[in-house]
Formats: sequence, structure tokens, C-alpha cells
Amino acid sequence: MDEDFDVAIVGAGPAGISAAYILAKKGIKTIIFERGEYPGAKNISGGVLYGHDLARIIPDFMDRNCPVERNIVESRLWYLSKQGGYSVAYRDRVFYDRTPLNAFTVGRARFDRWFAEQAVAQGALLISNTVVTDLLRNGSNRVSGVKTDRPDGDVRARIVLLADGINSALAAKTGFRPEPKPDAVALAVKDVIELPEEMINERFGVEAGQGVTTEIVGEITAGMDGIAVIYTNRHSLSICIGANLSDFMKYKVKPYDMLEEFKSHPMVVPLIKNGRPKEYMAHWIAEGGYDTIPRLAGEGFLIAGDSASLFNALHREGSNMAMTSGRFAAETIIEAFGKGDFTGESLAGYMARLRDSYIMADLKKYRGFNGFRLKHHELFSVFPELAGMSAREMLTVDGTSKKQKQKNIWKRIRKEISLLKIARILWDGLRSVK
Ligand SMILES: Cc1cc2nc3c(=O)[nH]c(=O)nc-3n(C[C@H](O)[C@H](O)[C@H](O)COP(=O)(O)OP(=O)(O)OC[C@H]3O[C@@H](n4cnc5c(N)ncnc54)[C@H](O)[C@@H]3O)c2cc1C
Repeated sequence: MDEDFDVAIVGAGPAGISAAYILAKKGIKTIIFERGEYPGAKNISGGVLYGHDLARIIPDFMDRNCPVERNIVESRLWYLSKQGGYSVAYRDRVFYDRTPLNAFTVGRARFDRWFAEQAVAQGALLISNTVVTDLLRNGSNRVSGVKTDRPDGDVRARIVLLADGINSALAAKTGFRPEPKPDAVALAVKDVIELPEEMINERFGVEAGQGVTTEIVGEITAGMDGIAVIYTNRHSLSICIGANLSDFMKYKVKPYDMLEEFKSHPMVVPLIKNGRPKEYMAHWIAEGGYDTIPRLAGEGFLIAGDSASLFNALHREGSNMAMTSGRFAAETIIEAFGKGDFTGESLAGYMARLRDSYIMADLKKYRGFNGFRLKHHELFSVFPELAGMSAREMLTVDGTSKKQKQKNIWKRIRKEISLLKIARILWDGLRSVK
């Protein structure tokens, strides 16, 4: 390609498209490369997006046929032992018809494609089926464009935005981001199970268009630090389960076996009964948090979204951070064009924007959470088993007095774990999210 661009963006996920939309709208000549056949073709996520962050980019997204599956009106939390589990749920009328929607499910293949079309309509050039293989540098080692796997594929650009997701080989090439360590990533697998729309409404107790998220921890991850989710789409359920990669290596559990086991849990079976498996996918999740965020602005480049390690593992928020970091990157680039200054110093305003926002505030707040979970595997083994045993014991009517049952429970707890250990875990847990 002989043409020069103002900005080259690597990756048409939420981060890259958000930046492309804002830049193109401002008349900045923007090219966006996507390795998939189309944006979204290679992307999976549990599928919850957040209206606030999207509306800051496209305020009237609902009027533009954004492919929303369901508006989330209820969030459930389950803590499961092997045989049963606890459930708490919160539903609020406030979420029924809020503008913009608070949280909603999407299929990423449809959503990313729609989102990219909005950016293209603003003037961004989207090149799919193309892998960016390296960064171009000028004589002073400043990033000056990208190399692609096309024969004529070098593209010069004043600024390159790396929005290529967790596996970003390019972020590593900047020298800023080391290869993520196994304990800083999770491996998640996902099944999409088709069911008739009315059946989903009935099983989850919602009206048409309304949805429920269920986040699940406990023995379902075979003692590993992990989580599962069940999200309602219009005609399907997204079932994901994942665990920390270092645990997968240690415990030698196969992700697919874990998913199948989870689907046979008594709390899950009634929800997916008679469903038809539609898709199966696997993906990494950036779980390292605050301490794994690299420098994000250098000479001629910025890094956004998952490739910048912007993911809140406790609240399962990544797509919103990707969109907002993409927006901040675009605003910083627009400022740089205003000044005609594309140095690392000029682009450092990007870090300031992130620092002044909820992104760094939240990631800093939860910086100890990843380490806490990895340190205390009892949360995924002994605790759920004891919690299940306690409820089972108290609910079983067998002629034993309640006082005796309490004694039995207490004896069993003391046998499995010391009070000191319980106090330690509670203390560490509170400190990790302070
Ligand atoms: C199982 C699972 C469930 C999740 N659930 C949720 C959820 O419910 N809510 C939420 O907010 N977040 C969730 N996340 C996280 C969320 O998906 C990510 O945080 C978000 O997608 C990050 O957006 P991104 O644009 O940074 O990266 P991505 O969405 O990964 O997009 C990167 C894009 O770059 C492309 N690309 C990569 N390398 C190259 C290259 N060299 N050349 C060209 N193109 C390239 C990829 O094909 C991709 O399209 C989940 C993640 C997983 C894995």
C-alpha cells in the first residue's frame, strides 16, 4: 500500500473500533486491520456490554439497530458445592427501561461487525483478513507504521494504536509489555446453547427482551481459581467456565471436561435441558490486573483494551474498559494532531486520562484480588464443600435435633480447616478489595 495514514489501528475489537469511530468522525485518516474474516469472527466474550461506555462513543446506539440480545434486569450469584449450591439474586425495575441500557448481552460476532460498520460509515477504512505482523520504525526507532501479511502490506502511519487483544505479540515487540505469565491469564471455554425464546423467558422468570446474568464460583472449577457464567441471549444461553492458566497447568484438568461437568450440575441442568449446542469456543482472559499494566504510550504508539491488560476480574468488566481506553486513545491522538506533536511525551496524556477515570481507580482498588484467589484455593474446594454440607445438614429432617446438627457441622468444619485459617482468608479477602 503506497498510501500513508494518520492512524493505523491493529484489531477490530471494542477498543480498536471505539478509537476508529472517534478518529474517523474527526476527519483523521484511519485504517483498521482485523485478522478475522470480519470483525467479531475471532472474538468471544460472555457477552455482557455496558451502555454507559458505548453511549460515550455512539450516544444513540439503540436507534442504530445495535444488535442487543437482552437487557439485563437481574444479576445472580451462585456458590456451588458438587451437589448443590447457594443462590442470591438482585433484580431492579430501574434496569427495565433505562436509557442508555445499563448492561446487555450481545453476540460478539454480530456486535463487533455492527460496531465496525458504524466506524466505516464515519470514514474509517477497515481491512479484514489481514494480520499485522510487525511494527515499522523510522531512523530514530520511532514507530512509523505496520507490516502486514499481505504482499504489499506495509502501511505508514503517524500513530499506531495496538488494540489486538490479550495475545498481543505486537505489544511485546514495543518492549513495554512482557509476555503475560501463566498466573496473569485465565483460559475460558464457552458453549452457546440454543433454546426457544419463550423457554428462556420462562426458565429465568423474565419478559421478552429481558435477561439475567449468573456468575458462579465454587467446586465447579475442580479446586482451581476460576469462575463460570450463564448469560441469557435472545434464543440461546452463553455458558462459560474458566480458570487461571497456572492452575490448569498444576491441576491437569481439561477445560472441556470441566465445562461438561458444570453442565451436569443440578443447578444448571434445568436451565439448559433440551437445548441444542451451537458453538464451542476457547479464549484467554487478561487477569493480571493493575500490576501487569505496562507503559501504554510510547514514541508513535499507544496500547488499549485487553492488550493493555485492562480487565476487572472481580466484576467481569473488560469490554467497557476496552471501549473507554479506545476513546481515550482517540482523544489523545486528536490532541496530538492539534499540536502536531506525536512524541511519547505528547501521547502521555493517554495515561493521565486513564488515571483520572474509573479504569485505573477500579483496577488499583482490586490490585490484590488476583493474588488473593491464587493464594487461597480453599475458596474453590473446602469452603464450598463445607457450605454445602452445612445447608444439607440443616435442611435434612432426620430426627436429629438442630442443636446436635449444629454440633456436627461445627465438628466437621474444625476437622477440615482451622479457625485461624478462616480468619486469615477473610482478612486477606477484605484487604484485596479495599
Ligand atoms: C470467555 C470470556 C468472557 C468474557 N465476558 C465478558 C463480559 O461478559 N463482559 C465484559 O465486559 N468482558 C468480558 N470478557 C472480556 C472482553 O471480551 C474483553 O475485555 C474485550 O473483548 C477486550 O476488547 P479488545 O478490543 O481489547 O480486544 P479483543 O476483543 O480481543 O479484540 C482484539 C481484536 O484484534 C484482532 N487481532 C489480534 N491480533 C491481530 C493482528 N496481529 N492483526 C490484526 N488483527 C488482530 C482480533 O482478531 C480481535 O478482533 C470476556 C472474555 C472472555 C474470554
